[in-house]
Amino acid sequence: MSPVLDGSRLPIRLSRTDAAFVAELRARAEAFNGNLFGRSLPLAKVAFLPSGAVRQLGSVKTNPDYSAFVVRIARLLDGPAGDRPVDGSRFNLRDEVLVHELVHVEQFIRAPDEAPHGPWFLERMRSIGARPRACPTVQLEVRGRWLYRCPAGHEVTRLRRYGRRRVSCRRCDPRAYNPRHRLRLVGEITSAGGAE
Ligand SMILES: [Zn+2]
Ligand SMILES: [Zn+2]
Repeated sequence: MSPVLDGSRLPIRLSRTDAAFVAELRARAEAFNGNLFGRSLPLAKVAFLPSGAVRQLGSVKTNPDYSAFVVRIARLLDGPAGDRPVDGSRFNLRDEVLVHELVHVEQFIRAPDEAPHGPWFLERMRSIGARPRACPTVQLEVRGRWLYRCPAGHEVTRLRRYGRRRVSCRRCDPRAYNPRHRLRLVGEITSAGGAE
């Protein structure tokens, strides 16, 4: 567990898995800052946090003087769903969403008066090789409302939330409950689409 500062300055405790995801996001962002943004992004002022959202894959918030940023990336992307390619982009979905939010950070600093997904933003995305549109989602095929992940890596959706009931992945062990394949809740599928 490691404390992270949210925009509200409240320490947030992260599970070990989330801490690893956040560390990975930060490392990717540092690399992108070097090869896509000419080191212009103030990443020391950016907090990266996981979110439980499923369709709104990324978001960014800042304060009025752009001195602090909170980028949230869906926990869902810390898995096979993040590896999938995105049409019209040279990035996989995980990097696409991260780059999308980083371009917002860049725009807050360099072109704060431009519309959030306006021509400035779209041209910047295009020049980077990302998909120039507001919503980087590939439509995830989901029928249930709750997304669960098996330790083996695949994801399943369920209409009902299990709560404290222990349920394991039937694909890995069709017989009975098996703690080695216990399904863990990733998040609730929201109605919002894309990234902000
Ligand atoms: Zn499984
Ligand atoms: Zn956006």
